[in-house]
Amino acid sequence: MSPVPAPSSLRAPTLRPRESALAIDAYVPGKSRAPAGVRLHKLSSNETPLGPSPKAVEAFREAAANLEVYPDGTSRVLREAIGRAHGLDPARIVCGAGSDELLSLLALAYLEPGDEGLFTEHGFLVYKIAILAAGGTPVVAPETNLTADVDALLERVTERTRIVYIANPNNPTGTYLPFDEVKRLHAGLPETTLLVLDAAYSEYVRANDYAAGVELAGSAPNVVMTRTFSKAFGLASLRIGWLYGPEGVVDVLNRIRGPFNVSGPAIAAGAAAAADRAHIEAAVDHNARWLATLTEGVRALGLEVTPSVANFILIHFPQTPGRSAADADAFLTARGLILRAVGAYGLPDALRLSIGTEEANRAVLEALGEFVESAPRG
Ligand SMILES: *Cc1c(COP(=O)(O)O)cnc(C)c1O
Repeated sequence: MSPVPAPSSLRAPTLRPRESALAIDAYVPGKSRAPAGVRLHKLSSNETPLGPSPKAVEAFREAAANLEVYPDGTSRVLREAIGRAHGLDPARIVCGAGSDELLSLLALAYLEPGDEGLFTEHGFLVYKIAILAAGGTPVVAPETNLTADVDALLERVTERTRIVYIANPNNPTGTYLPFDEVKRLHAGLPETTLLVLDAAYSEYVRANDYAAGVELAGSAPNVVMTRTFSKAFGLASLRIGWLYGPEGVVDVLNRIRGPFNVSGPAIAAGAAAAADRAHIEAAVDHNARWLATLTEGVRALGLEVTPSVANFILIHFPQTPGRSAADADAFLTARGLILRAVGAYGLPDALRLSIGTEEANRAVLEALGEFVESAPRG
């Protein structure tokens, strides 16, 4: 039973959150349930079908022996392992509880209320949330062919633009900006604007003109690169992300982050995962093979697929009743195949499919084939 509310005139002043906090639409994760009795293939969150490195799981188990002890607040062992794997100075790395935490901390660190944060039309939803949570104003630049457009971004830069987020490659489109374009974007930004290169899927990219951003984040005073252990490394549940950037940014993040923001088991497992090159190569090889097979296979069914360099593809459906993305979603879900609806990304006619196990990928191709056959013709 809920109490009868007092008339507003008698009510005590209530808690008042930041106005921009109430403008946030809470992030809705990919579905993970199938009807009872149906084998589930979760292909809605870009997780790896190969799972984490067995060495990471072993390190996680060992860490379970010391759960009463606070972790090392500097994540030193993890930063050093990342540094060795990528040839980077560990002093310029900050680890976080997923890269999501770092994306939010960057907004908190660099936006005063009313300052603008810029991102692209179909960019990762977390950017808008991070900007609003920090009291900032989100500004959206249109894309061209579902790809970030450097000219459109630069046109929207004002003297209040403090942060620009680019997912490269982007989720949910799977498209990327060549490094030349990233450099052109950086060159067009004032030095008072921070460029955040979110390279969550960079391990998967095989394009020759792509770079994750190590070079820029290592040399420019206003560029950071964020990375994650959630995708190719298969440790999404542990929440481990990291950032590489200039000393000044590293220093400010170390001031505002929680003192123990990465757990002991996460530090241990992440360090082991970073060192296991063979495992990551297997994950990337599996992905390259099935990314091509699924892209061609789905196109052969007459559906449009956006060219992707990541571990997922965006499949487009006609608006015809019975043949729409929502119809396909229902058809596939009934067969235990869970894709990601991306209406919240401004893409109501598409579904995002994560590359899965061979079994899951074949099941999707077969089910999509049945869907296209069975659906009424437009
Ligand atoms: C999945 C994803 C992340 C990573 O999030 P974590 O918090 O590290 O799990 C970051 N950016 C994009 C674009 C993503 O899709």
